[in-house]
This record gives sequence, C-alpha cells and structure tokens, in this order.
Amino acid sequence: MNLPRVSDLPLIADVAIDLPGRDSYTYRVPETLAGTLKPGDCVGVPFGPRRLRGFVITIERREPPTGFTIRDIVSHQPEVRLPPHLLRLIAWGARYYRCSLGEFLAGAVPAPVREGAAPERLVLVAKVTSFSGTLSKRQQAVWNALPDAPTLLSEACRVAATTRATLDKLAEAGAVTITDDQQVREIRLEARQERHAHTDEQQVAIDTVAQALDAGRSQPFLLHGVTGSGKTLVYLDLAARVIAAGKQVLLLLPEIALTPQLAARVRNRFERVAVLHSGFTDGERADQWRKVAAGQIDLVVGTRSALFAPFPRPGLIIVDEEHEQSYKQESVPRYHARDLAIVYAGQLGIPVLLGSATPSLESVHNARQGRYRVLSLKNRPLGGKLPAPILIDMREECHAQKRTATICRELLTRLKQVKENGEQAIVLLNRRGWSPVVSCQSCGHTLSCTSCDISLTYHRGAEKVKCHYCGTEGPMPRKCPACSQPTLSTFGLGTEQLATQLAAEVPGLSVLRVDADTVAERQGHAKLFQAFSSGAADCLVGTQMVAKGLDFPRVTLVGIVAADRGLSLPDFRAAERTFQLVAQVAGRAGRGERPGTVVVQAFDTEAPALRCAVDHMPKTFVDAELKLREQYGYPPYAGLIRFLWSGESAANVQLVALKHGELLTRVADGCVILGPNPAAVAFLKDQHRWHALIKAGSRGTAQAFLDRVDAAGGLKKEKGVHVAIDVDPYQTS
Ligand SMILES: [Zn+2]
Ligand SMILES: [Zn+2]
Repeated sequence: MNLPRVSDLPLIADVAIDLPGRDSYTYRVPETLAGTLKPGDCVGVPFGPRRLRGFVITIERREPPTGFTIRDIVSHQPEVRLPPHLLRLIAWGARYYRCSLGEFLAGAVPAPVREGAAPERLVLVAKVTSFSGTLSKRQQAVWNALPDAPTLLSEACRVAATTRATLDKLAEAGAVTITDDQQVREIRLEARQERHAHTDEQQVAIDTVAQALDAGRSQPFLLHGVTGSGKTLVYLDLAARVIAAGKQVLLLLPEIALTPQLAARVRNRFERVAVLHSGFTDGERADQWRKVAAGQIDLVVGTRSALFAPFPRPGLIIVDEEHEQSYKQESVPRYHARDLAIVYAGQLGIPVLLGSATPSLESVHNARQGRYRVLSLKNRPLGGKLPAPILIDMREECHAQKRTATICRELLTRLKQVKENGEQAIVLLNRRGWSPVVSCQSCGHTLSCTSCDISLTYHRGAEKVKCHYCGTEGPMPRKCPACSQPTLSTFGLGTEQLATQLAAEVPGLSVLRVDADTVAERQGHAKLFQAFSSGAADCLVGTQMVAKGLDFPRVTLVGIVAADRGLSLPDFRAAERTFQLVAQVAGRAGRGERPGTVVVQAFDTEAPALRCAVDHMPKTFVDAELKLREQYGYPPYAGLIRFLWSGESAANVQLVALKHGELLTRVADGCVILGPNPAAVAFLKDQHRWHALIKAGSRGTAQAFLDRVDAAGGLKKEKGVHVAIDVDPYQTS
C-alpha cells in the first residue's frame, strides 16, 4: 500500500478554545488559508451549534482524526497573532495553574482583541503648553491636570476627571489640540528628559542590571529600596537602554489609577508608550494591542495582565511593588503575574527587575538562596529621614480616657498642629462604612447578609446596611428583625465614622474621605486625590487605597487606626501584610522637605509585625516570620494548593468535597492534606463553600501531586458543585 504524500494530506490545526477541560480541538484548515494561517492566530470555529473564537496552537498536514467528522475553520483575523514566545509562556501558565490553554488565552488576550473590535482611530489630546489665554476656574483645573505629553482621549478624560465636551471647549479656546494619531506623530515632542543626578546606589543598580542586559542573561534582580529612594529613576534609565537597543520594556504596576505620577514620568520620558488601564474603550484596547504586536510601542505600563502584551522583542520586565497581592488573579486563569514574569524572563533570556520597599517573603527567600540578586537603595536622594513612628497602645488609651476610645490623644493633638501649620495629614483605617456590625441590644441578634455568612456594615450617609462581599444592600431597619424591638446598635469603626469624628474633634479640620464608596460617588480616585493635592482638605481619611504610591509633598502626618486589625484574619500572610502596610504608609509621611510624623494605633502593640514596622527593623521581622513559615510548612518553604468546592446545595457541596477528599488523600504520597472542611466564609454569594489546603514540600512536589490527581481521573464537577483549583493561593478563607 502506498502511503499518501504529505502534500496530499489535509491541513489540520489544533485550536485552543475558551472552555474548561481540553487544551485544544482539531479543525481542518481551508486550502484558501494554507500558507497564511500560523500558530498564534485568532480564528473562528464551529463548536456544536455555536461559533466560537480560539487560537491556533499547531498546524500541519496529517491524517484527519477518525471517529468524528472534522469541521473547517470558518474565519481568520489576520491582524491578531500571538508571538511564539508569548504562546510558550501561556502554555506554561496553563499547565502550572491547571486550566485549559483556551481559558488561559482568554485571560491573556483582551476580549475586544479576540472579538475583533472594529479599529477605532486613536484620538489624542495634546496640551498646548505655551497657552496663556484665560479659562474658567473649572477649565483651568482640567488643563492643569492634563499630562504634558499627548495622551489618548479616554485616558486624558480619566486623568483629568473630565469629559470630551469639556476638552472640546478647551480646544476651542486653544488650550489643547485634539487630533488623530497620525497628526500628533508630526508634532515634535519636546525632549523632557529627567536630568536628576544619580546617587551612587542608583548607579550601581543600573550598571549591574545593564551588565545582565548586555550579556543576555536571564537574571532576576530584587531592587530593595526604601520609600522615596528613587526606584523609578532606575527603572526609566534601564528602560531607555533597552529601547535604544531596539527591544521593548514591560513595566507592571499593582494599580494604574493610584500611581498617576509614575505613568506621567514614563510618558514624559518616552514617546512610544502605552499605558494600559481599565478606562479604555474596546476599540482603543484592540488598537493598542495591535500597535504593541506591530512593534510600534516601546514600553507598556500596565497591571498584571499587561504581562501578556504581545511585544515582538521583549528586553526587560520590571515588576514594581512586587509584594502587592493584586498581582495574583483570583479568577481563572489564577496566575501570579510576578511569578510568571520570572518564568517569562527565564524563557526569553532577559533580566527581570522586582522592586519594593517591603519585598515579599518569597522574594527575600529567593534572594537569600542566591536565585535573585539584591540591589539596595538605602538612602533618599532628596534627603529626609524615614520618620520614626509613634506606637500608641489603645488599651492604655481607653484606660486613660475612661471610655472606649477610638482615636488617641496624640493623633488629635498632632492633627491640630497640622491644621495650625497649614500642612496636611492622612489617616488610614482599612474598613469602610460607618460601623461593621449592627446588633440588637435586647436579643443579641446581628444583622447579616442573606446571601453570605457576613455581617452587614452600616453606612450612615446612605442610611443603608450593605454586604461588602456580595454588594447586597437594604435600608437600615428601625427594629430588630428577630425581636421587633427598636434596640439596634452599631459597633466598631469604619472610615465614614472616623472622618466624622476627626472633623468633630479637631476644630476647623476639613476632611476628605477616599474609599470604595466615595470613589464610586465621585467618579474616581483621580478627582479625589487631585482635590487633596490642591489643598481642598486638611486631612485625607481612607482605606488602604491611600497607602499606595502616593506622593503629597504637604503631608507631614500619617495616622494608622486599628493597625493590628489585619492580624486576626485567618491567613498565614496576615503578619506579612500588616508589616508591609504599616511600613509603606510610614514611608508616605515627610517626603517633601518637612519632616513627617507617623502615629500608629493598635491594641496588640507587642505584635512583631507592628513593632518591627515602626522600629524600621525589617530584617528582624523577616527572620522571625521566615522561621515560623518554615516551622509550620508554609511558603516559601512549601508549595500550597487550595481546592474550593462551591454550590447551591450545602449537602451536595459537602458530599462532593468529602468524596474528592478521599481521592486527594489516596494520592497524597507525603503531601499534607488539611480538610476538606467548611471554608472560613462558608456561605458566599448564595454558594455554600468547602475547601482543602494541600501542603507539599515544594512547588515542584505540589505539581507532582496535581499530576497524580489527574492520573487518578481528576476532580470533576458533580451534582451542581463546582471545584476550583488554586495553585500558590493567596486567598485561603
Ligand atoms: Zn433583637
Ligand atoms: Zn453578601
């Protein structure tokens, strides 16, 4: 029998589709696409009665599969092609984080790109910096807030907290130009190079990474720099070198909206920059992606998913604030962008730079093991010492004030001084609303959400009770729903109440509140921070939003209320997070020329996380915490996996969890299995929840465990019970 010649065989493609389970499905490539279709291309395929989009993984001439009728690829988007190195990273991620290739691709490529959003002409807004005409007060504020470099219309609206209509008015007045992309390219950007002299430490950091760049080494670096030590200048100088060499730079940030200064500095220094943020229209998003893929962008600034920007020749990856939890995605694909950045850099043979003032214990451990090279910035170039925080014991304070005190006298005294001196203060409390608990003084009943095991938070302004987990809200009841007595009382302190109390206790103090509630009401952080920056209030009260990367030169006092609150959470990272939060916030005070003061209030003032943060003793904290992690078998000394079962029927969830638990135990082979048992939040968004935590000796043995689970048949959805696998989990409740 003669074998058919290869050229006579049909062209077959394996296509990854956004569905759980299989990595790819087999399709025939129409001969019209032969030669043009390549791996990484986005295609449309029939799937049952539906049309779906997917990505070509492999393409070759081979015998068609038997046993089913092979169907044809029906459409092709020639402008959406993932570069091979990105496809390789995504394949690695899908395998490691245990989802299908199609699911990972759907998480990595923005929906408007996959769905072929119609190209939209990018409209750019450019400030006429020489403008000297008169504007209304409001127009002037918008003009002041606009970045100096031309920016996308949607971004300009976001940054300046304004609308297209207002910008059009400014254009009529000659204060800005609104043009399409092509025209703006012809407007020469003034070179606005930063001409700061480097400190010796910055120079050493730059030279060391530059050596790895020149040698093409895939070395991870940990840039450990105290707040205000000039990490950004190191990033930008290295980026300039990479761009000059014809390669591209990826700069990941935990949150774009909260770091406007950094985005502005990047834009001022480089011309071909894309700042990816959530305010983009679909068309803009799709266009940005295509420009990056076409090599028309040198530097991308974005949050975790920007790691998947389709650069043709990535040369350097920078992960700023690498300790931030927002790098972990909490839905499929459940990747950690910092960890994947390390893998990606290894695959590409390029350096990766992790920056932080308070590095994660994982990164410190990796550095101590010699896997990461540490670059230290111990000094602040503009001078100014880190303020020495004052730790206030609230037990003593309550005793001295002879009542349940919520704000200490030290903080109030210093707020009065701030007010008198015309300076500014920030007070942080990581809990929004008026009071986190509403309960009945007659029968003890506590108001809780009907969809979650969570007590409802009272919001006085809205006169509502809200669930902070699922968003359910209702009017504040006048009577107890259990005993009908009018004896409901509120307990505990949230930002709303704190802001009111501060304004009442300090005469004349104007207070601005920044938390998820006020941000929603007043359209964005940008507007609130801008108002504070321009002196609209003496004091900013907020949740941890105010802890991130903000730089207000007039702030000379920072207060942290209930600093030990996070320590009681059922989470092995609770101490690490508390340490990082206090240390980061402490670094916010006194960044200008005036010295700063930090007042930290807590009941448990002996907690090492607090003590070490206020005493500036990071090494003591890290040593002690690493010892505990090792002793109890937690990362970085273990690989963790969390299984979470959820469903509407409590009985079925329990049944399936226990049944799956038997399989997990059977293949444990040395791994420790905690559970299955009800999750700390056992009922959430109308779903009952059970979980199990697997502790393995390392990330490698954790993967081997998951391979054994797969070999034993895997864990399948049964009886309406969903099972989620979270590799290297950050949420454990
Ligand atoms: Zn009652
Ligand atoms: Zn709820």
